Amino acid sequence: MLSVLRSIVQEVNAATDLQTALNIIVSRVQSAMDTDVCSVYLFDSSTNRYLLMATEGLNQDAVGKVTLGHSEGLVGLVGVREEPINLEDAPSHPRYRYFPETGEERYHSFLGVPIIHHRNVLGVIVVQQQSISRVFDEGEEAFLVTVSAQLAAIIAHSEATGAIGGLSLSGEATKDVNFKGVAGAPGVAIGNSVVIFPPADLDAVPDKVAEDTYIEIEGFKKAVAGVRKDIQSVGEKLATQLRPEEQALFDVYLGILDDNALVGEVVSRIESGSWAQGALRDVIKEYAGHFEMMGDAYLRERAVDIKDLGRRVLAYLQESDQSEREYPNNTILVSEELTPTMLGEVPREKLIGLVSVRGSGNSHVAILARAMGLPTVMGLVDIPVSRLDSRELIVDGYNGQIHASPSPELRSVYLNIVEEEKELVKGLESLKNETCTTTDGHRVSVWVNTGLMTDVVRSLSHGAEGVGLYRTEVPFMINERFPSEQEQRDCYREQLEAFAPNMVTMRTLDIGGDKALSYFPINEENPFLGWRGIRVTLDHPEIFLVQVRAMLKASEGLDNLRIMLPMICNVSEVEEALHLIYRVYHEVREEGANVTMPQVGVMIEVPAAVYQVKELAERVDFLSVGSNDLTQYLLAVDRNNPRVAGLYHSFHPAVLQALAKIAKDAKKAGTQLSICGEMAGDPAGAVLLMAMGYEALSMNASNLPRVKSVIRNIDLEWAKQLLDKVLCLDSPHIVKSTLDLALRDAGFGRYMRPGGVVSSHV
Ligand code: PEP
Ligand code: MG
Repeated sequence: MLSVLRSIVQEVNAATDLQTALNIIVSRVQSAMDTDVCSVYLFDSSTNRYLLMATEGLNQDAVGKVTLGHSEGLVGLVGVREEPINLEDAPSHPRYRYFPETGEERYHSFLGVPIIHHRNVLGVIVVQQQSISRVFDEGEEAFLVTVSAQLAAIIAHSEATGAIGGLSLSGEATKDVNFKGVAGAPGVAIGNSVVIFPPADLDAVPDKVAEDTYIEIEGFKKAVAGVRKDIQSVGEKLATQLRPEEQALFDVYLGILDDNALVGEVVSRIESGSWAQGALRDVIKEYAGHFEMMGDAYLRERAVDIKDLGRRVLAYLQESDQSEREYPNNTILVSEELTPTMLGEVPREKLIGLVSVRGSGNSHVAILARAMGLPTVMGLVDIPVSRLDSRELIVDGYNGQIHASPSPELRSVYLNIVEEEKELVKGLESLKNETCTTTDGHRVSVWVNTGLMTDVVRSLSHGAEGVGLYRTEVPFMINERFPSEQEQRDCYREQLEAFAPNMVTMRTLDIGGDKALSYFPINEENPFLGWRGIRVTLDHPEIFLVQVRAMLKASEGLDNLRIMLPMICNVSEVEEALHLIYRVYHEVREEGANVTMPQVGVMIEVPAAVYQVKELAERVDFLSVGSNDLTQYLLAVDRNNPRVAGLYHSFHPAVLQALAKIAKDAKKAGTQLSICGEMAGDPAGAVLLMAMGYEALSMNASNLPRVKSVIRNIDLEWAKQLLDKVLCLDSPHIVKSTLDLALRDAGFGRYMRPGGVVSSHV
């Protein structure tokens, strides 16, 4: 059964459209289970009905015509119950519905299994048998459940591909196609998509129309010739070292390239309008798919060769296509996995929004996007990225969704939101030079989190009183090697000078987790529980010492540096780091630099540190809570994984209790306490944190004015009462709605996210 299952999945995977995929499913399942009928009904959310999409055994004319209501018939019942229904005599079931147009005889045995993807019932797969004596046994039921579970993601992906092309399930043109992801950075962007794809990756090649068919064909032929030459020359070089059977592999490669079928097919697809890379992608996928389905293990292996050749030809094509990419005005950058480097490639004035398949709302690229004020949607796992290039898109960073093919009505709804947002920001500009003080005189410091130089300008214009977190890894990430001491020093000096005399808290290099350096790869099974932050830098004192030296020298004459240590789990890590910092301090002074010893602090961002506030406080000058990581570690929810994004709640009662405990213990220890996680930039989060006793809130610059505005309009007593109320609640959702309600009642509705703009289709 496993091999049957594997081959069905492979065949379906190779299908180029939804209808072909479904036809393959019904025909293969019908023969594998030896039943009279196998059919797939998909749920069409635009009509709220199931539609017969494919069948083997029923009348083909019924396909695309027979529909059932949401809970109608046995199919509807399977969907509503979200579990298999296995009946020996279906017609005697009260929910049985007979559709004469299917040519359906009164099939007796019925087994229906829901097709569920991420809790969404996409449809139902049904097998039926005429004979009354056939009862689908447990093994067959388990087989169909397995098929359905494995195919759900492929079906979701194909449905989404059709929807992107503006087609509904029944093939009708649709508008306002909506894809759900995870909110990355708030705001709305209406613009044109540009897909950025990694080089030499066939799966990532986007669809594009050939601008000049002749040039595309010539380029493709040149690429094939280039690969052929490479293979020949490698083959000749290795001729004396290889056995004849190994040498034969080169002949296989050359044979595939000589094969007119493959080359000819790519050319004919280019002639039909595709650009060369897209034509190559489709043909290689098809060929590799055929080989993967072969029974013979040797022939199956050839699929790997085909793909390898495809990648080589693609690399040549991409090399010759190195012309500077033109970014349109209002670019919305779309990628399988966005990186900070990609953001840097687009001229800032043209970039207005971001879309990423991978990652989640607390991934570092999302945090960067918030700092840059770019509406962002992350975790769009089912979106066919390759089909998204050069389309009009609406990015709804409030609700974590994007819209393709928007109708004029929808566009105008979103344009209004963009205008309202602009008005709001303008209205807050006057607060720039005001202090952040409650109506009853309680003063809170509002700091910013920075990483890029552009943050500095935004921060200063928004009235930041200092930097609570400078993520030093950002300049490391946009480099191609470790920056030298002098390069670091220049970069740090710029930050320190821009904010002087206010304090700038520089965090020592915090790589690992989802922050990778291309030139220092860390490959781990569990990166967030692995070699991260202080663990890396204590193991590499040469990196740590250079960084601290650069920081200290940069602070000469300004004296506004604070150093902060990330991912602290043990007091010994603090002691080791302090030892190195003192060493650098003495060395730098001996070299003649007139620097003062900076304040040193630690981040409280893992549960262990929550329980050692006192011990940590005895060793350092300040504590700063990293609520992004603390939330992920307390709730055991990977902050980067969109599948569990719905479980990541900074307002979870356990997180609130931990934050309150830290505040209480820090006060007892008499240590300065701040917070630099994203929660500080949420108006409701800021109110709670202030009430708990946090003295400084550090956030991204975009959020600062609204947090300041809320705090300036409430009194501390009100905030404390609200805190007492939510600390008694037991569910993150209830905490969130209680806070929303309280802020709305207090007149801050305009700062809350506009929600529920449009319901979702996909
Ligand atoms: C945090 O973890 O809350 C934090 C501020 O650091 P980062 O988001 O960079 O991990
Ligand atoms: Mg952190």
